[in-house]
Amino acid sequence: MSERKRILIVGGVAGGASCAARARRLSEKSQIIVFDRGPYVSFANCGLPYYVGNIIKDEEKLLLATPEMFKRWFNIEVRTNSEVLSVDRQRNEIRVKDLLSGSVYEENYDVLVLSPGASPIIPPLPGIDLPGIFTLRTIPDSRKIRDWIQTRNVKRAVVVGGGFIGLEMTENLVGRSLAVTIIEMLPQVMPPLDQEMAIPVHACLTKQGVNLLLGQAVSGFEQAGDGSIMVRLQSGASEPADLVMLCIGVRPENKLAREAGLEIGELGGIRVDDQMRTSDERIYAIGDAVEVRDALTGRWTLFPMAGPANRQGRIAADAIFGRETRFRGVQGTAVCGVCGLTIAFTGQSEKSLRRFGLWDGMYEKIYLHPAHHATYYPGAVSVTLKLIFSRKDGKIIGAQAVGREGVEKRIDVISMAIQKGGTVFDLEEAELCYAPQYGSAKDPVNMAGMIASNVVRGDSPVAHFEDIKGKEVLILDVREPLELRRGTVEGAVNIPLDELRNRLKELPTDKEIWTYCRVGQRAYYALRTLAQSGFNVKNLTGGFLTYEMTSQSQG
Ligand code: FAD
Repeated sequence: MSERKRILIVGGVAGGASCAARARRLSEKSQIIVFDRGPYVSFANCGLPYYVGNIIKDEEKLLLATPEMFKRWFNIEVRTNSEVLSVDRQRNEIRVKDLLSGSVYEENYDVLVLSPGASPIIPPLPGIDLPGIFTLRTIPDSRKIRDWIQTRNVKRAVVVGGGFIGLEMTENLVGRSLAVTIIEMLPQVMPPLDQEMAIPVHACLTKQGVNLLLGQAVSGFEQAGDGSIMVRLQSGASEPADLVMLCIGVRPENKLAREAGLEIGELGGIRVDDQMRTSDERIYAIGDAVEVRDALTGRWTLFPMAGPANRQGRIAADAIFGRETRFRGVQGTAVCGVCGLTIAFTGQSEKSLRRFGLWDGMYEKIYLHPAHHATYYPGAVSVTLKLIFSRKDGKIIGAQAVGREGVEKRIDVISMAIQKGGTVFDLEEAELCYAPQYGSAKDPVNMAGMIASNVVRGDSPVAHFEDIKGKEVLILDVREPLELRRGTVEGAVNIPLDELRNRLKELPTDKEIWTYCRVGQRAYYALRTLAQSGFNVKNLTGGFLTYEMTSQSQG
């Protein structure tokens, strides 16, 4: 192929727009045309929930670029309201419908890039088409929802699905003073989190007045006499709503690729190599529409997020012009805010390790609840952090965190460590920013590394609350008597840490001792004292706060 290429791009938002702009930076001579069936390109889909919530008040702010700007800055032609109907791979041609005039025409390409995104899943349930039931993908969608709220005296909303978009919509609808019910089929919100890590999220939502219906599936919708919607549940119960948000996930838009005979993966995404090339070497695919490799496990996965879409757009453009850039795969790094709480994670969850039988018997986990910055500086709040790593060599496998402040920065650091194949020893030694209002001299990331390193080195073996049942062990609670008011683990013996050295005789030498405190720190001190006195001890990782989370998640 010559340097002067005719590049057609389907989809002009995250992936498509990045690819177009990068392609121009690499080739002034090429002709680049972007087609989008919507009225806009390069808009901020991630901002849509906040536009519905009226946090972003001005719709224009959602437009990161316009067709005119693409023309002026990059000499890229953008055709909005232009749907690409089909791809003819023999003739290297696409058929395009101008949605305003209805006319259909062909355009030929040297290179075609598909970035059509993913569409919201709409289940074929009775009443699914009733007015007042919405999905959210585009600016016009968000406009319709805003109008509905403003003109219909909406007071009650049902959000079906408690994933990213469901939670963001919940926050924004609560912010608009609506009474919100979340209906979620799983026993937890935010499915990528391990169940116990979702417990603080449930508590926060409930505190905000959100009605959480977990483990419940919707069976259909009916119009009530007063014009509202009855959301029917499989349990036989029903929930009234003036507005229903369907947020049960997205599906890769693979129609064009499938009909063109390109390879599609088992998960429904377009199959690409690490330079985003499809099974046809003239056609690239990027963004939510493609399957990607999980960087840790090598498995194919779907990860419909803006970061990968943007990077893939750049990589595809590089590949088109012969550069060697390659996509490294995804780790599943993500963040979501809901009602003042931040949820973030990276790498594998324990749930996914179990589901796919990965690191079977080879992984370990720890929990910690450190303050997000120095406790002597006003405003410190705790972050609950879970770190999963290889028992053998300390390789980091995944991390999840929930809290009010400083959550995503810890996960970002751990994400980068994972990307570089890092270990818990790297976290232990990580040199991170510190001043009292930002962190601690021992940052939560360092602390996680230190705790996990102690486990791998054998200095502080861990046990887990969910493993207590049926075990012949002594449970030793080293908290102060006043703290026991919050609750205790059944059968635990209480010896406060400061009495421990004088009461060693009360402890058995013929069985394991599993010790805990509030968060794990004093239990660690107790463990070191006991271990050096010849006792066989483990630390119940994360202390009583983790006990509360795990016992609720099992219940
Ligand atoms: P898109 O950005 O969806 O663009 C695809 C475009 O292709 C669309 O405009 C579509 O109209 C067009 N198209 C499709 N088929 C055709 C056709 N045949 N002809 C012409 N045009 C076509 N990700 C995050 O990382 N963080 C977030 O906080 C976040 N929040 C989100 C909130 C919402 C409400 C939504 C919907 C998504 C959010 N995402 C978030 C996901 C993120 O927006 C996507 O991962 C990203 O936009 C994917 O980029 P893409 O180019 O693959 O697809």
